[in-house]
Amino acid sequence: MRGLYIHIPFCKSKCPYCDFNSYANMFDLAEDYTNAVIREMSEYPECRIGTVYFGGGTPSSINPEYIAKILAAAKQHFDIAENAEITMEANPGTIENTADYKSAGINRISLGVQSFNDKLLKTLGRIHSGDDAKNAVLMFKKAGFDNISIDLMYSLPGQTPEMWKRDIETALSLPITHISCYGLKVEEGTPFAKSGVTPQDEEADIALYHMLIDILKENGFKQYEISNFALAGFESRHNLVYWKCGEYIGLGAGAHSYFDGARYNNIYNVANYIKGGKIRENICHLSDADKAEEKIILQMRLTEGVNRDILNINAGNEKIDEYIRLGYMHQVGDNVAFTPDGMDVSNYILSDLI
Ligand code: SF4
Repeated sequence: MRGLYIHIPFCKSKCPYCDFNSYANMFDLAEDYTNAVIREMSEYPECRIGTVYFGGGTPSSINPEYIAKILAAAKQHFDIAENAEITMEANPGTIENTADYKSAGINRISLGVQSFNDKLLKTLGRIHSGDDAKNAVLMFKKAGFDNISIDLMYSLPGQTPEMWKRDIETALSLPITHISCYGLKVEEGTPFAKSGVTPQDEEADIALYHMLIDILKENGFKQYEISNFALAGFESRHNLVYWKCGEYIGLGAGAHSYFDGARYNNIYNVANYIKGGKIRENICHLSDADKAEEKIILQMRLTEGVNRDILNINAGNEKIDEYIRLGYMHQVGDNVAFTPDGMDVSNYILSDLI
């Protein structure tokens, strides 16, 4: 079954580290944008969909009616599975009526918390406080959401190991089922890059990452991907479609798709996307070799790893055995996967293996 991704490119303000296709102060375009997304659906055949994901930007920053309208149109146009996972990303600074999302048909929330520490939230330019984030989780829970994920960030300037531990423990005190954790990356062209902000050094970054793995493991959150942890049965089904090289349709400005064997993206400019016309670009039909390489890169992010025979075609058994001997990889049934130490250097190892 395919995934369906819907990009909502609007935010209340632009965070200085963010290089996503998102814009502040463009809410006057939200209604036309909603109609353009619905129009784009008609460019696809009616096909079976197993997961739906509203990402952004900040889907919770637009009128919940628009989310409901898009989802209702998607249900009409596509064959969406009865038990589909339907996620919406939300920012704790833009939550008003959580029940509206429930009645729209959303059944999973992904909250961009990043930290519960007000000083660090200020550094990140976030529009919410730590208390807002805690309250947002509780409000969604009260509205009947039993599948709530939060995003946290580490390797932030000024973040001590104690602060990070407190953030993880605060997350664990809340009724959540899933945690995604990302080390700060300073992307080119962002205000952070321009003002010389840097993440913590590699040693500190690795120490914070391992603290995270250890604490979450002790508390029943299984790591299933380099940056993702879940209680049993609450892994993100939508993101697993990406990591397992499944197909997905991306609707909206800048959304990426992998459909009928081709990868492409939509144009990024919101006004031009609304205008319509030729909105797809960078269309690439993958060869079998490309597919095998992608499978390795994406599936090695998972703790279940990739089939050893597939990896062997690119890397050769000798290299695989050497990484296993060094403790960076291990055999998981017929698969080979990174160990936690291997995940620290996964990019280096992958570039050697493919
Ligand atoms: S709220 Fe999210 S998408 Fe919007 S600017 Fe901040 S990080 Fe980017």
